[in-house]
Amino acid sequence: MAKKGHKYIFVIGGVMSGVGKGVTTASIGKVLQANGYKVNLVKVDPYLNVDAGTMNPIEHGEAFVLRSGLETDQDMGNYERFLGRDLPEENYVTSGMVYRDVIERERNLGYDGKCVEAIPHIRDEIINRFEKAAAINGSQISVIEVGGTVGDFQNAMFIEASRVMKAKYPEDVLYIMVTYLPVPPKIGEMKTKPTQNAIRQLNSYGVQPDFIIGRSEEVLDSRRKDKIAQQCNIKPNHVISAPDIESIYDVPLNFERDNLSGLILEQLHLRKKHKKVAMTLWEDFVKKVHNPKKEINIAIVGKYFSSGDFVLSDVYISVIEAIKFSSFSLGAKPKLTWISSQDFESGKLPLSTLKKYDGVIVPGGFGTTGIDGIIRAIQYARENKIPYLGLCYGMQLAVIEYARNVVGIKDATTREMDPDAENLVIDIMEDQKKKLEERNYGGTMRLGVYPAEITKGTLAHKAYGEDMVEERHRHRYEVNPQYIERLEEKGMVFSGTSPDGTLMEIAELPAKVHPFFVATQFHPELQAKPLTPHPLFTAFAKSAIKRSMHSSK
Ligand code: GLN
Repeated sequence: MAKKGHKYIFVIGGVMSGVGKGVTTASIGKVLQANGYKVNLVKVDPYLNVDAGTMNPIEHGEAFVLRSGLETDQDMGNYERFLGRDLPEENYVTSGMVYRDVIERERNLGYDGKCVEAIPHIRDEIINRFEKAAAINGSQISVIEVGGTVGDFQNAMFIEASRVMKAKYPEDVLYIMVTYLPVPPKIGEMKTKPTQNAIRQLNSYGVQPDFIIGRSEEVLDSRRKDKIAQQCNIKPNHVISAPDIESIYDVPLNFERDNLSGLILEQLHLRKKHKKVAMTLWEDFVKKVHNPKKEINIAIVGKYFSSGDFVLSDVYISVIEAIKFSSFSLGAKPKLTWISSQDFESGKLPLSTLKKYDGVIVPGGFGTTGIDGIIRAIQYARENKIPYLGLCYGMQLAVIEYARNVVGIKDATTREMDPDAENLVIDIMEDQKKKLEERNYGGTMRLGVYPAEITKGTLAHKAYGEDMVEERHRHRYEVNPQYIERLEEKGMVFSGTSPDGTLMEIAELPAKVHPFFVATQFHPELQAKPLTPHPLFTAFAKSAIKRSMHSSK
């Protein structure tokens, strides 16, 4: 049962999804952390997938890989970025994990022949996981975001688990409901009824929210606050307005204007502590977000960018944030343009459009669609000396491009595109082959943190200022060792390798032939944080700023 003294805050959504519950949770974590508390952020995803690795990114957005290698929901990325620290895998819970463990235990006679049921066994396994997460890093407060919206069948068990924890330790458990208040254009007035209904629905689970965070296009006025307070038994100052704003990084500062952390701490019988230091750094960062001195134009070339009329930038949220952090730290604002590589293939866009950009990024990806277009874009960036940053697939394709057009291996490719090709410059690792043959896709990738040795005198070494780094991975294929010598002979530099020298982690071109051409097998974007931007993104942004100042480009 709940560890006495540890505080649990459950964040539950009402009315509808997609209103920023993840950012709200991360921001609550941030303001409590700024009070000197060690805060734990936990994400609950009620789906039956055991992790987020096998899900289609178009449907689910980015799979955020933790240090441990667990593939999780993109909210975990926001949590790490707001808290400024890495989170352990215990902080991510799906129904799939919970059911898998209970069923496995049952198969191993772990329940002594009892009838195994949702209540109590699934519920108690959920509580177990919350407690385990709370205990793991010496934190004092856990903020647990329950995915989905109240009323969904599939998150009910998690709310029930929280109710049991509250019944046992009423002083230590608190509820925050994040709702949406529409302003229907024809009516022109903010409506509270959906929120009232959502609160009543939560009440029907035996749970009364302590705070309401009202997301809306506009600020909640005192009339709406009073109405929600009066109709739903909530203190008026516990109804917090969270209007749409320009940057998600403003949210913690806005919460503090309403004294949210003070009110939460009071309710949890915790003292308000020294706040200033942590928030000052955050405020400085937010100032830079709002007052850039220049702009850099960055093209992101890849696929997966659109579904119907919408650009699916969620798939690359960590890349977007990483380039922002580095640019802002240099006083610049990045203007990102999404270019679908298929447009280069079909001729809809000429490659020369890339010339007007200050930098080109090719992010990670899978499959065969749009690959030729990406390779041509990389060639263009290389030959025209446009700063280039390749991430994972963006590194593999940069190596293929170099092999084809500089080394002269015309049919160089990756096993992912053509398993029967003669020159597999990018190939599968031996130990992964068998898993793929058995169609055992979940967990077949190189995932999570691995060390890389950085070669002195390279762009990568200059950026990192270190000989050894740790970076997160998510890929199946590697640079084929058989081709390394030929690539190096023709000028490609592998400036980062696994410590045993077998796996190529970073490929780059010497500064004398290209202002900035760096590509990584790992995903540096997963470790970029607002207050500690990633050095490789910063080096890329610096080079882009330089280019932006040359009008002759
Ligand atoms: N598809 C490539 C691989 O599996 C790259 C993966 C990625 O970009 N995340 O190795």
